Amino acid sequence: MPQQDSELSDMQKKFDVMERNLTWEIRKLEKDKVLLENENLRLDREVKSLKNEISRYRAPPLVIATVTEILGNNEAVVKSSTGPSFLIRYSDKDAKKMEIDARVALNQQTFAIVDVISSEKDPNVAGMEVDEKPDISYDSIGGLSEQVKETIETVELPLKNPEIFKDVGITPPKGVLFYGPPGTGKTLLAKAVAKETNATFIKIVASEFVKKYIGEGSRLVREVFQLAKEKAPSIIFIDEIDAIAGKRLQSSTSGDREVQRTLMQLLAEMDGFESRGNIGIIAATNRPDILDPALLRPGRFDRIIEVPVPDDEGKVEILKIHTKNMSLEANVNLKEIALKAKGASGADLKAICTEAGMFAIREERSKISVDDFNEAVEKIMNKTSKQQEKQETVMFV
Ligand code: ATP
Repeated sequence: MPQQDSELSDMQKKFDVMERNLTWEIRKLEKDKVLLENENLRLDREVKSLKNEISRYRAPPLVIATVTEILGNNEAVVKSSTGPSFLIRYSDKDAKKMEIDARVALNQQTFAIVDVISSEKDPNVAGMEVDEKPDISYDSIGGLSEQVKETIETVELPLKNPEIFKDVGITPPKGVLFYGPPGTGKTLLAKAVAKETNATFIKIVASEFVKKYIGEGSRLVREVFQLAKEKAPSIIFIDEIDAIAGKRLQSSTSGDREVQRTLMQLLAEMDGFESRGNIGIIAATNRPDILDPALLRPGRFDRIIEVPVPDDEGKVEILKIHTKNMSLEANVNLKEIALKAKGASGADLKAICTEAGMFAIREERSKISVDDFNEAVEKIMNKTSKQQEKQETVMFV
């Protein structure tokens, strides 16, 4: 009997150990189960989000439209970027953001509003440079007295005294085109007129419009003119206009069509200009030969002003302007520097002055010597001729 008892107790012990082990195993499995359930949930979510992403990639592109009229009862008229206008309904969620000129993204098939796109009126976003108070005066432009005179007559006078033109019975020129090599002072001239007429200076670089803002060129042109009206009096300065106004080519890739749409919008904005007197339009190009003749018709850019590289006298004037605040040794002769800097533009001459100053600083001198200028001319003009060579090679290739 005692033997039986001891056997029973041994078995009991074994059972106890087994039970403990099994309980432990069950707990472990339960823990694993919870972990796996969580992992499953996470993977489910990931699958869902990947599916969403796939459907987003597969979704047809949305049509962009501009709101032209708000009719009430959550209905609005929008003009799509592809041409036609539509009457659309919008949800209460979008109602707050709906306003005239707001941009909306529409489903291609149902034309339902998918999103109201935030406005890009911010000039930096739209690639414009806006200077409400430019500080360049005519005095800081050297060697361009004829061009300054013409600019005063064609841009400044119509802005300041539009009635003079009315009295005489002639329409002032709508737009003025500056043409000439880079760095000759075209932007300076435009800024100086803006300062003289207390106008806001709005600069856009046409090549950036078509490169950076693909598909948005014509909208941006519209926005530039809108901004100019809001900030009037203002001067719109369109640099590198040849990028959107080159002669129309036979080929019509989508890029060409985009460029043409931008140009057509620019022409339409200029043609739609009735009340002159508070907005001046100036364009600049290095390549007048490739411009579309439509741009140069009367009522558009009908005054063309050449802004050439300065002659020797002009170079001295420009050097005077840029050395005004520099301390030069007594024997520095600006005429000699001008003669040495053959073919230099205004921008080159400015760079020569800065470089000469740098040579003096490097040698811890406070006055700039003739040698500093000679070395600067050498350095800058060498750089310029190398750049020109490179450009010519690229054009040749
Ligand atoms: P781009 O065709 O490259 O746009 P641009 O003709 O508009 O060139 P600006 O931007 O007016 O040239 O000139 C560049 C800089 O060169 C100016 O900020 C100015 O410092 C200097 N500069 C150019 N021309 C003159 C000038 N006639 N008188 C004084 N400074 C000048």
